[in-house]
Amino acid sequence: MQNARFVCLISFFLLVTLHAQNQPSQHFDGKSWWDYVKVLADDNMEGRETGSDGLKRAETYVVEQLKKAGLEPAGTNGFYQPVKFESRQIVEKSSSAALIRNGKLEPLVLGDDAFFGTRVDLAPEVEAPLVFVGYGLRVPEKNYNDLQGLDLKGKVAVLFTGSPEDMPAALASHYQSASERWKPFREAGALGIITIPNPAAMDIPWSRMSANRTHVSVELVGAEFNETQGYKLSMTFNPEKAERLLSSSGHSFSEIVELGKARKPLPHFPLNVWIKAKTKVEKKPLESSNIIAKLPGSDPQLKNEYVVLSAHIDHIGIGEPINGDRLYNGAMDNASGSAVLMDVAASLKQSPEKLKRSLLFVFVTGEEKGLLGSKYFTAHPTVDSKSMIADINIDMFLPIVPLKVLTVYGLAESDIGDMVREVAQSQGLTVQPDPEPLRNSFIRSDQYNFIRHGIPALAMKVGFEPGSPEQKIFKDWLTQRYHAPSDDLNQSVDLSAAGKYEDVIRGLMVAVANEEKHPQWKAESFFRRYAQSGGAPGSAN
Ligand SMILES: [Zn+2]
Repeated sequence: MQNARFVCLISFFLLVTLHAQNQPSQHFDGKSWWDYVKVLADDNMEGRETGSDGLKRAETYVVEQLKKAGLEPAGTNGFYQPVKFESRQIVEKSSSAALIRNGKLEPLVLGDDAFFGTRVDLAPEVEAPLVFVGYGLRVPEKNYNDLQGLDLKGKVAVLFTGSPEDMPAALASHYQSASERWKPFREAGALGIITIPNPAAMDIPWSRMSANRTHVSVELVGAEFNETQGYKLSMTFNPEKAERLLSSSGHSFSEIVELGKARKPLPHFPLNVWIKAKTKVEKKPLESSNIIAKLPGSDPQLKNEYVVLSAHIDHIGIGEPINGDRLYNGAMDNASGSAVLMDVAASLKQSPEKLKRSLLFVFVTGEEKGLLGSKYFTAHPTVDSKSMIADINIDMFLPIVPLKVLTVYGLAESDIGDMVREVAQSQGLTVQPDPEPLRNSFIRSDQYNFIRHGIPALAMKVGFEPGSPEQKIFKDWLTQRYHAPSDDLNQSVDLSAAGKYEDVIRGLMVAVANEEKHPQWKAESFFRRYAQSGGAPGSAN
């Protein structure tokens, strides 16, 4: 808190005079936002791990605030929508991995060379040849298939994350999502995937990725949610050690890194090694809840339609200590977004502005476990699924520099993009599409589940211009604080940026709620297909 940068008075007055005409009566000052963040990211909330008491305490607080603000409950149990999960934890001392080269076993050091992923139902034992599959992507729209002509039956694929440069970001993101990634491999009869992260697009260093590898993973209970049938082995391999996988294959890993960095096509070839893996996983039932609140609209017809504002409230709890701190507070990720929901909900409830449509405020659990709370909510919504006409999602919007540029994920995909452009411009901001498509941000938060159900959606963050000094601030933030205990209350935030961001969110909610027509997907948008097919049934597609 003591490090927070406060609003400079001059810029505040400038802001007020510039935007007085186009603005709703109220401006957010960032302080009410920060007050909420302080509660949700307090040590007492223990990092809000899905299924934990800390998250329950945070949710109790949110529900109290919503009640106090006069919002209506819209869950299945008051404001709550309980969700059933299974937790999985790898028991490393009973697990092992090795490469087999010319019949000889070369043990891998778990954590150092590679680690197991428990998002899939790992088979106790797998022994299989390896095949390098480049980016491992199949994108029918671009007539692109890394798996073409490869024999993967009974084998484990090794892929390098990323995509070729002519692949549109939205398509590349979509086909790298958990639900899409596995499909072509399953059809090819593969047993699993070893993923080598592309060093050009790693948010956090290997040491930090690896540090939390024995943390529990969580899956939704129910066959409708199982998208990884047949996926028996999932591993992530340290790129600094990946030369071992490729040696004597006729290719070198450094060649792959160079090509991948430039997003050039990658070769595909069998590797000269096999993988041998043994795993033990402990499974337990777990329960957690989404929170859903409603603000009814006033138009007799349109009030039956909902504009959704969503944010995940969970974070990653208590983990491996970094600099002596084991508590992953998740202040920006995503106490910050949940705080905006509470602030905007309270403000709109008090507002003299009439809303034609109803608003739904959805605080989801399980985001950090793979967008699970939103996956459940969109499969089992607490209002008629056809009545949700848009989703605006907020996840880690990072008000750590002054807000001048708004980065919008999904800007060109639907009419909401045009609406946000208008609202932002009326507040003196410029908008830009995702400047870092390799980071797959469009599918990395809860908006994606709404999209898969045909609902136009977008997410936005405080942005930076490529090459600007702010870019380094964001890069440093990701390296040092993202998913680290230092994403806590003892970091510098820009309250003015947070307030302006809230103004945009509020303005956009009002605009979508009162616009005569529903937002539509653009004719050329890839994601339009979900609206036309009636959306993802459960999550079976
Ligand atoms: Zn996160």
